[in-house]
Amino acid sequence: MDRFPRKKTRQIMVGTVPVGGDAPVTVQSMTTTKTADVEGTLAQIYALKAAGADIVRCTCNEREAAEGLARIVPRSPVPIVADIHFHVEMALAAIEAGVHCLRLNPGNLRKPEEVKLVARECKDRGIPVRIGVNGGSLDKRLYDKYGGATPEALVESAQIELALFAEVGFDDVKISVKASRVPVMVEAYRQLSELVDHPLHLGLTEAGPPPSGTIKGTAGIATLLLEGIGDTIRYSLTTDPVEEAKAGRTLLEALGRRERRNVDLIACPSCGRAEIDVYRVAQEAQVALESRSIPLQVAVMGCVVNGPGEARSADLGIAAGKHRGHLFIRGEIVRVVPEDEMVAALVEEAEKLVKEGFEARLAAADKGAAQEAEADRLALLDARGADANRSEALVELINRRLGSGGDGEGSRAGPGRASGVE
Ligand code: SF4
Repeated sequence: MDRFPRKKTRQIMVGTVPVGGDAPVTVQSMTTTKTADVEGTLAQIYALKAAGADIVRCTCNEREAAEGLARIVPRSPVPIVADIHFHVEMALAAIEAGVHCLRLNPGNLRKPEEVKLVARECKDRGIPVRIGVNGGSLDKRLYDKYGGATPEALVESAQIELALFAEVGFDDVKISVKASRVPVMVEAYRQLSELVDHPLHLGLTEAGPPPSGTIKGTAGIATLLLEGIGDTIRYSLTTDPVEEAKAGRTLLEALGRRERRNVDLIACPSCGRAEIDVYRVAQEAQVALESRSIPLQVAVMGCVVNGPGEARSADLGIAAGKHRGHLFIRGEIVRVVPEDEMVAALVEEAEKLVKEGFEARLAAADKGAAQEAEADRLALLDARGADANRSEALVELINRRLGSGGDGEGSRAGPGRASGVE
């Protein structure tokens, strides 16, 4: 349950994709190819869509880029936003190219008459605009007024642009106020959200390469989404933009803002009890399941002693023990397979689970699998249990010494009873 319900914004349409209102939060990314390279750009747009992007932005920085857009837009599987910085002619050319939205940077396209000219044209053609304020390219006058790219400065920049649009009766707008520091970005969006009901495009600009860039982007974007702020998001990562789209999609699925369409792989961190190389098996499972778009939460657990219990909320999982893999569905062991077939068995069961459903797959469980797993679990406890359960044994000893009795409960960690290693 969200502590803050999603703030209701007015809805705009970016091509066929609704943004704002009660529309799902969308994922955006930006191509890194030259827009004039039509085939290369389209290939990247298709890759971005496959990775989770709903809307893609391409730069329109020169005549050849505008011409490229005219050829890209009709063949694109997602709406295209043209990124405009300094040149009003490029904005007008992108409109002619048929793009579904413009992104204008108020810090770069500054002349009020030019801004109003573009807004008028967009109004006539029914093309929305993103007012894309960016801390790094903030109008110098605002920078000087506030002594830096503060949240207040970013918000005022957006308001000035909105006022120019209002002069020509144009309001088909979404807004971003990006900064490269998480606290500034979060505060800017909070302030803006109080002042306008336009859809907000969230992003931390110049976040840098993963993993730190992804972490910083997540810190800002997730914070705001959980406060009910934000209608569309973009990670700005210094890497293949496919990673941006993947990160965006993964975040929205993790926050329950989009339906699950791909695997959510969870795995134990591994420890001295692990019977397999958890990192390798988890990686192999991730790749195999991702390529099949399996919309399940799947667990890879290093040992059958604690794995099925600790991951009982997962739809499907596998835990290792005594050179075998123990497949479980929502904590119930359904099959035991040789260790070298673990990933293949996991993938096969995942596909069946998606096709046949939980009831059918639980009904098809191998009889005796649960007993086999229990036997392996007990054997592992006998062989390796002393160290991992030492704390419980010591507690028992203390209880005996203190005379409060120790009934032995807890001396063995069973499924569902965490070993404490995590
Ligand atoms: S005890 Fe937990 S962390 Fe250690 S291998 Fe087993 S499932 Fe993984």
